[in-house]
Amino acid sequence: TDLAHIRNFSIVAHIDHGKSTLADRLIQLTGTVAERDMKAQMLDSMDIERERGITIKANTVRIEYPAKDGHTYILNLIDTPGHVDFGYEVSRSMQAVEGSLLVVDATQGVEAQTLANVYTAIEADHEIVPVLNKIDLPASEPERVIEQIEDVIGIEAHDACMISAKTGQGIPDVLEAIVTRLPPPKEGDATKPLKAMLVDSKYDAYLGVVVIVRVIDGVLKKGQRIKMMRTGGTYDIDRVGVYVPAMREVTELGPGEIGYITAQIKQVRDTRVGDTITTEKKGCEVALPGFKPSIPVVFCGLFPVDSSQFEDLRDAIEKLALNDASFTFEMETSAALGFGFRCGFLGLLHLEVIQDRVEREYDIELITTAPSVVYHIHMKDGTDIDLHNPADMPDPTYVEHIQEPRIKATILVPDDYLGDVLKLCQDRRGIQMELTYAGSRAMVVYDLPLNEVVFDFYDRLKSVTKGYASFDYQMIGYREDNLVKMQVLVNDEPVDALSMMVHRDRAEMRGRAMCEKLKDLIPRHMFKIPIQAAIGGKVIARETLSALRKDVTAKCYGGDATRKRKLLDKQKAGKKKMRQFGKVEIPQEAFISALKMD
Ligand code: GDP
Ligand code: MG
Repeated sequence: TDLAHIRNFSIVAHIDHGKSTLADRLIQLTGTVAERDMKAQMLDSMDIERERGITIKANTVRIEYPAKDGHTYILNLIDTPGHVDFGYEVSRSMQAVEGSLLVVDATQGVEAQTLANVYTAIEADHEIVPVLNKIDLPASEPERVIEQIEDVIGIEAHDACMISAKTGQGIPDVLEAIVTRLPPPKEGDATKPLKAMLVDSKYDAYLGVVVIVRVIDGVLKKGQRIKMMRTGGTYDIDRVGVYVPAMREVTELGPGEIGYITAQIKQVRDTRVGDTITTEKKGCEVALPGFKPSIPVVFCGLFPVDSSQFEDLRDAIEKLALNDASFTFEMETSAALGFGFRCGFLGLLHLEVIQDRVEREYDIELITTAPSVVYHIHMKDGTDIDLHNPADMPDPTYVEHIQEPRIKATILVPDDYLGDVLKLCQDRRGIQMELTYAGSRAMVVYDLPLNEVVFDFYDRLKSVTKGYASFDYQMIGYREDNLVKMQVLVNDEPVDALSMMVHRDRAEMRGRAMCEKLKDLIPRHMFKIPIQAAIGGKVIARETLSALRKDVTAKCYGGDATRKRKLLDKQKAGKKKMRQFGKVEIPQEAFISALKMD
């Protein structure tokens, strides 16, 4: 196809502003899918994506649109992942297209993810068409939102498309705007050596790994032997096609086109988002710029509730890892939780996605330990350690200093709740970087330690603002701080699963809270049980769980044999959910509840 008749674009929006509904309408109006095959949210494929309304993998769809100028255009929409955890993938898929539709809910206005996503689009040099959605709702205020887009984002918005993705109003204007206001692909040359970008890849049960590609130069064809320039892998292409949105094979993909290939690639892990695909022989010389593999930043332990499911868990984790290059794991043993895995994730959502899939697709009930970030430990002997698990913290006497990852958090919130948000950020060791107003909303930017955010920051933020705040973040780097490992001892035995890294100034508070909680969670025994929090050998908080009165149990264990056996059976059933620490039995739920903060 002539480049002049191709438009490649993405849709950027805050969650729930109508991105998926708009995509559905574009697909529907152009007759890309027969009416009877239309289902809501055509592009969101996994269960969890549909349920949470987020996109995890990039999806693409090719739409044919006969424009008013008499030409038929090919519109390629890439639906980019919609969450900060996948920021790198988002920025890559934005590089694969030339323009964006900026969808803003006209009843809500600009939100934190609107900003994060539109800035990524601006960085990728996109032409941007603002689209105000939900104008069918009486509460919509398009004029106010137009002002806000111009003030906050700094782009012209008076020529925004006014639409209702729900009723279909204004959709024809969006299609015309894509053709007239977004640019065609930058020059590409079909006669040059092949150069294509690996946009994303996913595992298909029938086809194996399917790779989404954007061709820059040259032509992709069945039978070609290709090479991934960064990973060095070589493969024979066995299918080339486009999504309409069902898969349809085509003979070739040329410059400016977006589609998929399959090439007997065994695992998603062998493909890297942002890699450059060329031919093995007479390939292009220079790879596309800006490649960087995603590195996990949040770690936690995953253990089976039923320890006999450990091998099933290993199987599940290995399978998931094959199809997710940014998910890492290694075996871990814990006195409290038995055998499990220490797993690395791009962020909390990524963690939840994996956890959810293990539980749902593999039917394994999990215990997840508190998420922890990766600390950089500089030892006095000059060596450096990346600490993924607080349990592995070396003896502090040999430690020179510890650095922790920090983020830049952007929060948008109605004025009324600003005070609560500032207090929350301050409590979490935040440093205020910016405070500005956009209409009746405040925008605050904080430099925060990631470890204070992975815990329950998002839940707290939602609760103090009654759900009105929106939040987004990006990593900004590592900084030294006064960090220590806090241990929890139950009846003088350290409980490894409850060890955590904390800031020295917050240790007493966290320690006290933890001990108080455990006191309620651990059942009473025949003896007194001290519960302590300690740093090094020094106890910083303490509670005592009093003993059960003797006569109560004496009565239980006396009496007739059937009753005694029943009691023993019941104990046995409960046993697998209990963990033994020296003489103390702790129910499994106690760990989970203790690790939640409130
Ligand atoms: P996404 O998270 O940006 O993909 O948002 P969705 O497309 O899933 O839409 C979020 C919610 O808003 C859904 O319940 C949609 O039905 C609803 N919605 C989307 N567009 C409109 C619209 O134009 N008008 C109204 N009233 N509701 C809409
Ligand atoms: Mg959606």
